[in-house]
Amino acid sequence: MIRPPTVLVHHGVGDAAPESDPVGLVVPPDKLRSQLRLLLRLGYRFCTAEDLLADSGPLPPASGTACITFDDGLTSDLHVTAPLLEKLAIRGSFYVCPGLWGRQHASINGDAGRLLDRDGAAELSERGMELGSHAMTHSDLRKLDDAALEDELAESKSAIEDLTGRPCRVIAYPFGLHDERVESAAVRAGYELGLGWGPGHWRREAVPRMPGPPRHGALRLGLKLLGIRRSAR
Ligand SMILES: [Zn+2]
Repeated sequence: MIRPPTVLVHHGVGDAAPESDPVGLVVPPDKLRSQLRLLLRLGYRFCTAEDLLADSGPLPPASGTACITFDDGLTSDLHVTAPLLEKLAIRGSFYVCPGLWGRQHASINGDAGRLLDRDGAAELSERGMELGSHAMTHSDLRKLDDAALEDELAESKSAIEDLTGRPCRVIAYPFGLHDERVESAAVRAGYELGLGWGPGHWRREAVPRMPGPPRHGALRLGLKLLGIRRSAR
């Protein structure tokens, strides 16, 4: 069986009531755990997004590689997701917006939508999780003028580097939205990998990601991996 590399994307992890999570961005811990266990049972080798860069060959890297990513920098990254991943010996990749430290997520209400502050993000990094940029303020980068686009890319990169003490090499485009101008600006800003959204061909500037099903576990993920439920959440 040929298995392409799989980069999953989730947001929050927790037991959010539907009224606090109307869009479906928070996956219950048991569902996430069953998705990850399925990938482990299928023989996937987990790595971080930066590990994808370590392969000196062309992307995509070896089949059977899986990478789990979390966007938006919710407090569940630190309090729920990191402990869950540690129990499975998986390092996750987390994409945060330094311009929104400690604020409320635009689409998730209540506690489930609280965003990490700077100290929380630093703790996540110190625990061994990988941090990358989700731009400064979660704007649609395609709609910004050149100067604002450069600021979003450069300021978030340096804020995360200050926090982790390491180069910030990967950006996950907010909303998964990007075009050629955004991709070129990200490369000029020094990003080595850009994460997009949805299916597509592997390119360093726009790596396709598969949204992890937020309301379902291993079975739905298995169907998505087989291409049977490509767009289903
Ligand atoms: Zn986002």
